[in-house]
Amino acid sequence: MTDTLTTPSWESAVLRSVPSGFLAHDWQPATDGRTFEVRNPATEEVIATVADCAAPDALRALDAAAAAAGRWALTSPRDRASVLHRLTDAMIEHRERLARLITLEIGKTITEARSEVDYAAAYFRWYAEEAVRPHARSTPSPDGKSHIVTVAEPVGPCLLITPWNVPLAMAARKIAPALAAGCTAVLKPAALTPLSSLALAESAREAGAPPGVLTVITSSDAAAVTLPLLSDPRLRKLSFTGSTPVGRLLLQQSGACVLRTSMELGGNAPFLVFDDADLDLAVREAMVAKMRLGGQSCVAANRFLVQEGIADAFAAALGEQMAAVRVGPPDREDIGLGPLADHRAVDKVRHLVEDAVSRGAVVVAQADIPDGPGHYAAPTVLDHVPADAAIMHEEVFGPVAAINRFSTEDEAMAVANDTEHGLASYLMTSHIDRARRVAARLQAGMVGVNRGLVSEVAAPFGGVKQSGLGREGGPEGLHEYQQLKYLSLPGFHT
Ligand code: NAD
Repeated sequence: MTDTLTTPSWESAVLRSVPSGFLAHDWQPATDGRTFEVRNPATEEVIATVADCAAPDALRALDAAAAAAGRWALTSPRDRASVLHRLTDAMIEHRERLARLITLEIGKTITEARSEVDYAAAYFRWYAEEAVRPHARSTPSPDGKSHIVTVAEPVGPCLLITPWNVPLAMAARKIAPALAAGCTAVLKPAALTPLSSLALAESAREAGAPPGVLTVITSSDAAAVTLPLLSDPRLRKLSFTGSTPVGRLLLQQSGACVLRTSMELGGNAPFLVFDDADLDLAVREAMVAKMRLGGQSCVAANRFLVQEGIADAFAAALGEQMAAVRVGPPDREDIGLGPLADHRAVDKVRHLVEDAVSRGAVVVAQADIPDGPGHYAAPTVLDHVPADAAIMHEEVFGPVAAINRFSTEDEAMAVANDTEHGLASYLMTSHIDRARRVAARLQAGMVGVNRGLVSEVAAPFGGVKQSGLGREGGPEGLHEYQQLKYLSLPGFHT
């Protein structure tokens, strides 16, 4: 994929320092003219000023989504697919610029930002292809007296709420299936990262999405813009990606109008390494599972559960790799880890490491970090982390690998499943019987077997327990935006 010399039309608008939001298909200020600043976490400098939307702006966005819903739902699947294909092409064409924008607003390395653009574009391509695949059924009733026909219809206007850690791809994972299904959408990005969503909305407009099909409301006060929408009966679906506590609250609020909901919430992924694992493979995949996005991922390995026979070798080898990670300005090609999102993220990592050490954990390795400015946290490996350390129960969301040793498989399963979360899990073993048995016992929506990466556009991404409801990606992701209508027709034996 290459970048061209053309400048995308979103670029000057997104990065100019004037009040601008993308409301109802055009760049518009908030009704009361308020704005908020977006800062680069590597330099702490202001990089843009965007509209600080409030309730009236949110309702204007829903007005537009509701007005566009009927016509968009009746657009042919092929025409909807064409819009998504053009959007895919635009993202590929402007890959480098989008990647730089992501790096600027969230500080992930430029290499990871390019991967995020590819991942986001792949969702648009996948759902352009899925849009034209019918999954209805037509069958006689068992007694032959009627004929059952099902039709998948769009659920209607949707509210899509996204987090800061994967700002472009999390938006893509919701927008692509929503538009493919024939739904209109109001996107509410995280306040830390509104810029890639604004770029996406402008690209969707250029790709031919009609007015109102996709609007973006940027706000520093999330509840002020989401509550009025959740209590408006024109909205028919909420898709949320974010933390479990906010997800719980939004589920309650979604009860008011009995909304369809999809919830992609927090994780606490165990990474199990058994004595029979291939050590080199285990360490390589551990680095992938831990260090993608610097650990700021819902599927990041949070707890390394390692069997006693391999634990010394695994801790030493992982420590060597983590200590060698080069931390610094994320726009440099030789950098392996940029800053975390903000100072709260750094404080949380520091607190969790100190808590573990105070309970007996040993620091095996720690990388160097720059003095600042920038919100940097050191890649760290902790061994002998006791089960009661806070890091075993909370998402660290940073570059810290906490190793807890076990002796038997039963012991490992008990620790692995001792969490309210159930998103991703990983297991490393050379025995197929153990792999199948342990995968079956893990309470998780996704299991990586000898792999540290589970994200894949064609696969159903999602969790069990308090990690969420529903799935994103794959054919399943489209169904989240469809509701079935059943037609009862006369049968042949009436
Ligand atoms: P967060 O829950 O604080 O915020 C997520 C989004 O919800 C943001 O847009 C925020 O503005 C909005 N929000 C916050 N409070 C709200 C309220 N009261 N009403 C309405 N909206 C509100 O999460 P975050 O810190 O942005 O992201 C990190 C979390 O997201 C982690 O827990 C991570 O595991 C989770 N996550 C999950 C997935 C997944 O697919 N399961 C993917 C990425 C991130």
